Amino acid sequence: MTAHCQNCGAHHTEQYARVFGNNDGVLYNCSECRDVTAMFRGAGVEGI
Ligand SMILES: [Zn+2]
Repeated sequence: MTAHCQNCGAHHTEQYARVFGNNDGVLYNCSECRDVTAMFRGAGVEGI
């Protein structure tokens, strides 16, 4: 299975979504459209 970024539509692995997305595997931002620092702050979880 794959997941896609809700912001830019880039495809990522399910594992990536599990790490950076929310508990449902939804990915609000990704490292394609946000910098890695933002991702580690939780940008993928709730689109901050
Ligand atoms: Zn993205």
